[in-house]
Amino acid sequence: QAKSRGRNGYQFYSPAMDGEGVERLRMEALLRRAIERNEIFLHYQPQVEIDSGKLIGVEALVRWHNPELGHVSPVRFIPMAEDTGFINQIGEWVLFEACRQMLRWDEAGLQVPKMAVNLSVRQVERGAMAPLVEQALAATGLAPRRLQLEVTESVIMNTGDALAFVHALHAIGVGLAIDDFGTGYSSLAYLKQLPVDVLKIDRSFIKDIALDSNDEAIAIAIIQLGKSMNLSVIAEGVENEEQAAFLLRHGCARAQGYLYGRPVAPEELLETWGSRKHERHEHGTEDAGT
Ligand code: C2E
Ligand code: MG
Ligand code: MG
Ligand code: MG
Repeated sequence: QAKSRGRNGYQFYSPAMDGEGVERLRMEALLRRAIERNEIFLHYQPQVEIDSGKLIGVEALVRWHNPELGHVSPVRFIPMAEDTGFINQIGEWVLFEACRQMLRWDEAGLQVPKMAVNLSVRQVERGAMAPLVEQALAATGLAPRRLQLEVTESVIMNTGDALAFVHALHAIGVGLAIDDFGTGYSSLAYLKQLPVDVLKIDRSFIKDIALDSNDEAIAIAIIQLGKSMNLSVIAEGVENEEQAAFLLRHGCARAQGYLYGRPVAPEELLETWGSRKHERHEHGTEDAGT
């Protein structure tokens, strides 16, 4: 319950009252200043080849730490940034910073093959994305093939000229991944026309893959779809060996998830992967699977 504690006390707001609205306005105001105050930063999560454990790329995941609010999840502030339009500034910062980070790792001796960056629908529908990507590549000198953009199915379906956007990216030479694949409503006929490179199987299907026969069927169908459309497939949210073994057995060679590493600061990624480039990841399928 909402309770006022008087003038020099503090107040609790409950969703039943106006609390959520107030909290949201405050958060929006703080978010607007977050970039200039250096509160926004990136963490990077490894993507690996399951059977060798080789690092094939990383995904940039935006983080916000505010002195008053503490850590705020992107699941909360990204939708807010989309509503206010501030996502364009955040997105631009993320894109440039992610490209710059690749060069820092290069210089430090860690060759991360690919950087994946998430795009929101607001960025794409504005139509300024392709030129921005070109600028980021030009400014940093990063090879286009080392950058991959991630969009969800709904971004594709809700963008008027998605076709033009995707072809523009393709012309630049950057990769395109469909994020959270299987949760949206994209038409396969439509997807087929697009020069997409990667399908990312949504974490929700991976979670109970060994327990839920529906999830299992969906994951297998996506893997097959990827094969028949000549796309690379990567599974999100892989947390245990059982899931990894299942994926390998069904022809999905790539994964991202806590089993291989949580999203971490760039220095930590360097520390972890700089020294174990050739280490094999033991998942136990070779002997167990047959
Ligand atoms: P996403 O792009 O699907 O990113 C994957 C999310 O799953 C990340 O959450 C990651 O931390 C989490 N994850 C990865 N492996 C595991 C696992 O094994 N188990 C579990 N339980 N979770 C795992 P995060 O960082 O909280 O990001 C959430 C979402 O916020 C992202 O989902 C993406 O849609 C959005 N987001 C993050 N960064 C950006 C950004 O720079 N721009 C835009 N537009 N959206 C972003
Ligand atoms: Mg993503
Ligand atoms: Mg995803
Ligand atoms: Mg997801």
